[in-house]
Amino acid sequence: MREKFPYLPERISGLADIAYNLWWSWHPSARMLFKRLDRIAWKESRHNPVRMLMDLPPDVLKSAAENRDYLDHYEQVMARFHEDMETRVCWFAANIREAACQPIAYFSAEYGLHHSLPFYAGGLGFLAGDFVKECSDLGVPMVAVGFAYPGGYLRQKIRMDGWQEDVHEVLDGTAAPIERVVDGSGEPLIVQVPFVEPPIHVAVWKVAVGKIPLYLMDTDIERNEPWNRGISARLYIGDMEERLRQEMVLGFGGIAMLDALRIGHSIIHLNEGHSAFAILERIRRRVESGDSLDRAIERVRATTVFTTHTPVPAGHDVFPFHLMDKYFGHCYRRLGLTREQFLEMGSDPAAPAAGFNMTVLSLRLSSFSNGVSRRHGEVTRRMWAHLWPGSNDDAVPIAAITNGIHVPSWVEPKMEMLFNKYLGPGWLEGHDDPSTWDSVDAIPDQELWKIHLWLKIKLLNFIREQARRRWMENRASPATIISNGVLLDPTTLTIGFARRFTAYKRPDLIFSKPDRLKRILNNRWRPVQIIFAGKAHPADDEGKRILQRIFTLAHDTDMGGRIAFVENYDEQLAQYMVHGVDLWLNNPRAPLEACGTSGMKAALNGVPHLSILDGWWIEGHRGTNGWAFPADGDERDAAAIYDLIEKEIVPLYYRLDEAGVPAGWVKVMKEAIKHAGAHFSARRMVKEYALTFYQHAIRSAGEERLGVR
Ligand SMILES: *Cc1c(COP(=O)(O)O)cnc(C)c1O
Repeated sequence: MREKFPYLPERISGLADIAYNLWWSWHPSARMLFKRLDRIAWKESRHNPVRMLMDLPPDVLKSAAENRDYLDHYEQVMARFHEDMETRVCWFAANIREAACQPIAYFSAEYGLHHSLPFYAGGLGFLAGDFVKECSDLGVPMVAVGFAYPGGYLRQKIRMDGWQEDVHEVLDGTAAPIERVVDGSGEPLIVQVPFVEPPIHVAVWKVAVGKIPLYLMDTDIERNEPWNRGISARLYIGDMEERLRQEMVLGFGGIAMLDALRIGHSIIHLNEGHSAFAILERIRRRVESGDSLDRAIERVRATTVFTTHTPVPAGHDVFPFHLMDKYFGHCYRRLGLTREQFLEMGSDPAAPAAGFNMTVLSLRLSSFSNGVSRRHGEVTRRMWAHLWPGSNDDAVPIAAITNGIHVPSWVEPKMEMLFNKYLGPGWLEGHDDPSTWDSVDAIPDQELWKIHLWLKIKLLNFIREQARRRWMENRASPATIISNGVLLDPTTLTIGFARRFTAYKRPDLIFSKPDRLKRILNNRWRPVQIIFAGKAHPADDEGKRILQRIFTLAHDTDMGGRIAFVENYDEQLAQYMVHGVDLWLNNPRAPLEACGTSGMKAALNGVPHLSILDGWWIEGHRGTNGWAFPADGDERDAAAIYDLIEKEIVPLYYRLDEAGVPAGWVKVMKEAIKHAGAHFSARRMVKEYALTFYQHAIRSAGEERLGVR
């Protein structure tokens, strides 16, 4: 990749290695190494070091390579990078028996890693991204598998009438931290997807996530028929047949790709059912190399981990039988199965005629399954109890491991410095130990508040810059520009609501009594403002209508310019929002939020949560670290929110001490930080997966060295 940067002096050529490993993104000193080259270019590149190194004029790079101060910084970062990449002593090796195993193959249809890689739609992707980053930090041997979507997900453009237009966020492959994988002769590696007739091929890309390689498949190559080239074009295609083909490539192709890369794997972990065909591929291989079908199933099941993420029935893929016959008809017998036996694996006894259910397949053929919060575990056990006839809900073998966030990725760098100062330099290493956070109380209120205000101003500046761009692109009228947040004020209590725009998340719940809302917003001495962001799925017209309603209300003069809708929610905007608002609002219809993670990101940065008791907040709410209300139907939920804002939140926020600091509010901020930092970290989460699932599955694999060929 160094050839991409012809002007990068040899003396600092390691910058190329760091630019191509996302490790930089969760190490502030590495980020600073790029930023200090040229702050404006850094901003122009949208914090993308590959883009920046391509664009910087040679003399800027040359003078950095001659600047003693810069070189010292560079040496420090390079030393730390190499130490992190090469170190063998790590949590996993020290705590997991049989840690010297082949890698765990982690499968996910999406990964949220950085906004320069538009391979995510939302929560599932960020969970996968944070999971892989944490596995790198803990030294979990892992190889991650997914799709490179050249057409990305979607770039949201809001028309002047508030309707969302779906423009494709096209991957800029030259300026993204992604590399094409080549074979022994230097030609692009091409892998044939097994099982599928006529054949489909994939090219392979690699993203370095710290120590963990993420391999991404891409069907857009000449060798493929035109209709196959588009399989990996976009995330979550609506058409069932295209979706089936996509999932066949992910599951069957994923295993074949690992083989072509000569990467053996001990066990597999499926992040949601999209990749469940990987299970069938592993069974097929065993049957073809001589195992009986029963034995193959038993061995594969013992080495498969499955995480389900959604309590919404429509979130589970079910493929009609005629499509299954079309694509699998030729291979039922290769597995030693009749058609009925094959289809039985994915048949939901509660809806046997519905089709082939990927979640059912995964639950049946994984020894280790889980939901993603305690409540979601309960809901999931109830939802699938009929797969284990005769056992009551508690005996259903689906565990609960609550999601967590990758703390180094979501803690704002100024906050991180504050924690360094008051929690001690070892806090980041031990951040999943609750006692690490006791000293948050020692942070002077004024210091925490000052940083928070600075982050809020940063957010509002970012929003104003976006609005200016829309204005200059002639995509806003003098009236609609108000909806973009130009009248937001840094001294006003600011509520953030950012998530996918879909009916069950009820983004417009707070508008259910517009007059009451207006009174809250426009309280003369104690006003409130709300910032919204989020995309509706391209096929979700109802979600788009909700968005349009909010966008339109936002420039209703009665709202006083205190409602904003910010376009194109992505990783970068998420960072600004979870760092910079005062309060994070979450009001889905219970129990449909499996977990939720954006509230954790906010809490970690001292932004308390105002949320319905669902998902992680059932475990997270302690009475002192934010606000909660029970699920009680739309009308009462809205009333509960208004009451809490008017009676508790607003008075607390605007009660200032002599130094001008809202001491009572800052206390809630501190409690929010304390409880999010340890328990809702990806570190706690990955350790739980390793101890409760991986080590047992790896032992089963070790008994027989599965995957060694
Ligand atoms: C964290 C995150 C999500 C997931 O948040 P939820 O609370 O699960 O909705 C979605 N999108 C982005 C950009 C994120 O950073």
